[in-house]
Amino acid sequence: MSTNQDGEIVAAKAPESKSLKLRFLGTGSAFAPLELGQTNALLTDNAGRNLLIDCGSDCRHMLANHGLGAKDIDAVYISHLHADHVGGLEWLAFNTYFNPNVGKPALYANHRLMHQMWEKSLRGGLESVQNKVCNLTDYFDCRSVVSNTSFFWGHAKFSPVQTVHVMNGLEIVHSYGLMVDLAPDFNANERNSLKGPTRIFYTADTQFAPKQLLDFYSVADLVFHDCETTPFRSNVHAHIDDLATLPDDVKKKMFLMHYSPIPDEDMDQLANKLGFAGFLRPGEDFDLNTYRRPLSNEMLEVVEAAG
Ligand SMILES: [Zn+2]
Repeated sequence: MSTNQDGEIVAAKAPESKSLKLRFLGTGSAFAPLELGQTNALLTDNAGRNLLIDCGSDCRHMLANHGLGAKDIDAVYISHLHADHVGGLEWLAFNTYFNPNVGKPALYANHRLMHQMWEKSLRGGLESVQNKVCNLTDYFDCRSVVSNTSFFWGHAKFSPVQTVHVMNGLEIVHSYGLMVDLAPDFNANERNSLKGPTRIFYTADTQFAPKQLLDFYSVADLVFHDCETTPFRSNVHAHIDDLATLPDDVKKKMFLMHYSPIPDEDMDQLANKLGFAGFLRPGEDFDLNTYRRPLSNEMLEVVEAAG
């Protein structure tokens, strides 16, 4: 270990890195044509482990397009309870439950959402198997994420960020995007020395809420944002006309997802004209590195002593 001129500890050796691939299985809205798919994404580490970000009702078809099935899913993160984000979980649950060669997938969600997921979405189909009354933990290794905390998968740190997607009368329906920190134990100076993005912000479904989200846009190197493109507004998604009013430095790192094609419009040209990084396409990949500071000799000794 050594310190820089500001007295901050910097890594003495080159950081350890592992690659992570983010693939968009689908990029459409709930009403988009089938070929766009539903906005679900897959993170794959270099050991081949897969973390699915949302598991919509079309998920098995989208996974099959990439030669994947239920047995290939090691973990799932669920953002909220609309069927294009959660409707494939029953399929995943039964397919892994009845396959003796497959372990339970880990299931990550905000702790309040986890409870509602069972009571409001999954219980009807999954509660009963022959001669047994089941609950969510029979199918998944449930990892409830308490509000304002994070979970780790690989080297990366995932922090659910509550968004305003839909109001249920006077209350906000639970919906959580993700701030993903790819170099969680690195300070600002060390981050600047790393190649590629170190933080990505994935909104999942959200309304246009710049006052709530601008801080997250600012610290992220890449932003994947919900974007409604239809002329008739649902008022529960961020509309492209509103997103176009964001600062240029935010838009140029913002990729748009959860959209519908606009008839007779070249979507690439439109994104370019408005200053966005682009509209995501199904199958689009992002190669990301995740970093961990190498353990110092003293820390290695502590680990060995503890082992
Ligand atoms: Zn939704």
